[in-house]
Amino acid sequence: MPQASTPQAALSAVLEHIGKEQDRYVSDLQEFVRIPSVSADPKHKEDVRAAAEWLMGRLEQAGMENVTLVETSGHPGIVADHLHAGPDAPTLLVYGHYDTQPAEKSDGWVHEPFEGALEGGRIWGRGSTDDKGQLICHINAAEAWLKSGGGLPINLKMVFEGEEEVGSFHFAEILDKTGDRLRADLLIVSDSPMRGEDKPAITYSLRGLSYFFVDVDGPGSDLHSGIFGGTVWNPAEALAHMLATCKDPKSGKVLIDGFYDDVVEPTAEERERLKEVSDPDAVFLKNTGASALFGEEGWTPTERTGLRPTFEVNGIRAGYIGEGSKTVIPRTAHAKVSCRLVADQDPHRVKELVATHLKKVAPEGVRVSVELHNLGHPVRADPDHPMFVAVEKALVDTFDNRPALLPEGGSIPAVADMQKRLGVVPILVGFGHKDENMHAPEESFRLKNLFRGTEAAARIYGEIAAQKRG
Ligand SMILES: [Zn+2]
Repeated sequence: MPQASTPQAALSAVLEHIGKEQDRYVSDLQEFVRIPSVSADPKHKEDVRAAAEWLMGRLEQAGMENVTLVETSGHPGIVADHLHAGPDAPTLLVYGHYDTQPAEKSDGWVHEPFEGALEGGRIWGRGSTDDKGQLICHINAAEAWLKSGGGLPINLKMVFEGEEEVGSFHFAEILDKTGDRLRADLLIVSDSPMRGEDKPAITYSLRGLSYFFVDVDGPGSDLHSGIFGGTVWNPAEALAHMLATCKDPKSGKVLIDGFYDDVVEPTAEERERLKEVSDPDAVFLKNTGASALFGEEGWTPTERTGLRPTFEVNGIRAGYIGEGSKTVIPRTAHAKVSCRLVADQDPHRVKELVATHLKKVAPEGVRVSVELHNLGHPVRADPDHPMFVAVEKALVDTFDNRPALLPEGGSIPAVADMQKRLGVVPILVGFGHKDENMHAPEESFRLKNLFRGTEAAARIYGEIAAQKRG
């Protein structure tokens, strides 16, 4: 292995290596995309495993060590590492997923979904941008350092799962089985779009989720509204009344006692920075198709989705809504309700707060039960952490453009699990693009971002090492 004399010389050699390998990066990704690793569909179970095995081969070829298949009750995970940079060097964990959403040609695809066609500077196929093309950037980058940079400047660990598209249901089993093996200082996830054609983005927070079922029981059976109407609380009306007390119709504030107690308030700098990359209200309005925007007073739509928690009714069912009319007082009423959470809200505590509130406002004569159905913890890293500065520099050097620093409105449960259990600082750096149709027909990935993503990953490893050296 040639030993470069300075970090700069090593990086130059790595970038030169990446420049020479472009054709192979493309053909590798085509191979990977051709494996229909659809995790949701049992008929693709063997294909999912084939993709895992392909990935293991690619990791070994790249020079990663201890490449291990981790069995779970569902699809397997894959773990690999390369830990020769010494105890003073930082340890980075890279997470990605090799499973894909389903895809059938008849859904509206022009290209075959699992052929990996090249056209217009893109590779077309399910999983090309989400997440095969993005995760492979990291393997390419590690390989370039190992083969041409005199070795990796950081201790590198990788974990890839095969169930992200079905909710990472067994990801905790991978963490249970690998124990301390995945411990790291920093976590990087490349599974998201950039902010624009040449505008990279770093995501530093993800919202959590608390999702519950609300059931209201009233009379012993459905009642005739002529005989009994006006004598008991109607569960449908009771539920509507109770839910309506949860949010102020003017200010949009959630009115549940204690709901905002654990919310970390953003700093003035954070709000300022977000303003620079926020979409105007008119764009939000257009995207919703609604006739007016509504949300928590004092916050822009971008802030409401990124920095603030919400309370939303996702569904209501009660009484008779079939053909014709039926004069009935329903016996029960049901709602599905969810809250998007921000750090440091706890999904269990929020469920308790909501349950306490609903029971408090429930009228006499109905019984309420609230059951937690689904949860995810919020994730937040400090965007002024020195590792963000390192990643930012790597992106500026690659894309010649300052990255947008964003809070994200969605949830990735696996990232929250890793932050909690492995103590990592999570940084999400994506190389995809909004028009690459993640989860939709005609998914694609720009080849230029396969190359720039590889370069960015390689530079990130170098910058993280330099940051730690001081
Ligand atoms: Zn993904």
